[in-house]
Amino acid sequence: MSDLRDLYQEVILDHNREPRNFCCPPNANREARGDNPLCGDKVTIYLTLEDGVVKDIGFQGRGCAISVASASLMTEMIKGKTAAEAQALFRRFQASMTGEEEVGGTDDLDKLAVLSGVREFPMRVKCATLSWHTLAAALEDAAEKKISTETA
Ligand code: ZN
Repeated sequence: MSDLRDLYQEVILDHNREPRNFCCPPNANREARGDNPLCGDKVTIYLTLEDGVVKDIGFQGRGCAISVASASLMTEMIKGKTAAEAQALFRRFQASMTGEEEVGGTDDLDKLAVLSGVREFPMRVKCATLSWHTLAAALEDAAEKKISTETA
């Protein structure tokens, strides 16, 4: 198990050092902002949504390694998915973070297993799920596009 944890740690540090899709896509037509005041994480998610498919996705912001790595992993995973697939993945990821469901079973959830270590730390769960809540708001095109972990 410790080897696995080291591997997870490495993936998180790598994504934190070099976040993927850390940009605003030129044709973005949706955006939402997320805020986790307990940790100081802030993230803005940009989507190019066409015909119900996430053609492009990017994020900007700053925060702890967990929040940045989680957003980076998420953007890699969501690009090319339909809005419905993205929402379904969000729900399963959230369930796995709150311990209702084991992570794994699909390639995508297996990739997210690197974040499973935070389950033992409720404060860090908010860091890991912030970008996903923000993604969900952007997908729904909700009127209120500012997500806060402390008012939801
Ligand atoms: Zn954080």
